Amino acid sequence: MIPFLDLKVINAQYREELIEACTKVIDSGWYIQGNECKAFEEEFAKFCGAKYAIGVANGLDALTLIIRAYKEMGIIQDCDEVIVPSNTYIASILSISENNLVPVLVEPNINTYLLDPSKIEEKITSKTKAIMPVHLYGQTCEMDEINTIAKRHNLKVIEDSAQSHGAYYQDKRCGNLGDASGFSFYPGKNLGALGDGGTVTTNDEELAKTIKALGNYGSHKKYENIYRGINSRLDEMQAAMLRVKLRYLDKETVKRKETANYYLENIQNENIVLPTITTDSVWHLFVIRTSQREELQKYLLDNSIQTLIHYPLPPNKQKAYKEWNNKNYEISEKLHSEVLSLPISATQTLEEIKKIVRVINEFR
Ligand SMILES: *Cc1c(COP(=O)(O)O)cnc(C)c1O
Repeated sequence: MIPFLDLKVINAQYREELIEACTKVIDSGWYIQGNECKAFEEEFAKFCGAKYAIGVANGLDALTLIIRAYKEMGIIQDCDEVIVPSNTYIASILSISENNLVPVLVEPNINTYLLDPSKIEEKITSKTKAIMPVHLYGQTCEMDEINTIAKRHNLKVIEDSAQSHGAYYQDKRCGNLGDASGFSFYPGKNLGALGDGGTVTTNDEELAKTIKALGNYGSHKKYENIYRGINSRLDEMQAAMLRVKLRYLDKETVKRKETANYYLENIQNENIVLPTITTDSVWHLFVIRTSQREELQKYLLDNSIQTLIHYPLPPNKQKAYKEWNNKNYEISEKLHSEVLSLPISATQTLEEIKKIVRVINEFR
């Protein structure tokens, strides 16, 4: 069986260094808010080209805390609206509703699967305060267009970079393409911890300080609480392991790009639509489309190839958002019924990739 993703094999590449990093943390006697987190924050900010990185507990918290901080800063109020793509992973939307704001869904471009800038302005009202572009599947959004609209309407741009560590837009990396950005280090992400983790990046000093305090019970200084904060921190163990894996991230991205290019050049099947890349992608996922999705997935499994669906049910059809259940988001719903993700991890062998292509090309 060719697995969709084998985290054991991925992390085995760095086994010795990871064990050494863990041992250092164990022996230090310091497990929360220490030197590993601080060093990782500096290294990750530099990697993105941003001034500040603030380690938090996971990617959802990163996004939630950005919005929460804007509320504490008086920039966003309860019941304000945030624009978000209708085909994103549910976490982007949860970060908005968790803050008592209204997520406003905008349809994606059917070819790139990304938020369509030409459909944003018709959804802007006097309540709109931010746009949340999601660099879905690893490809950066059309940020020039999005930032221009944001500037025209005085909106914040909050990047959801949970799937796009290291992806470029022109000469800048995500995490440095808007006002603030949320990253996830969930184990299966391109930069994955060995547990949960996340970070915010920004060039805004006040925002960085506010988020740092909010994730630490609302406190800048021990036992002095200026906000009703939460506990959301990146622990020393995860930070130490992320520091190891960050050193190899660019190399893994090159490997993903090679696999993607091989798929793009060699998959030839009139029933299958390949992804369109117009900016840059770090290929978190390689997502094809077909109206025979269920048949193709079963056929691939019969040929010992595991695939996954990202995602089977669109946010507007989820029980959690009943108020949207009878609304139609045509493009998003079409995508959700047709998408299929092929294996594309950094440890995939050429032999496996060739087999996947050969089997797909024989699908009728
Ligand atoms: C994974 C993911 C998140 C949430 O990250 P967690 O670390 O799992 O909380 C948010 N947005 C997108 C697009 C994601 O893929």
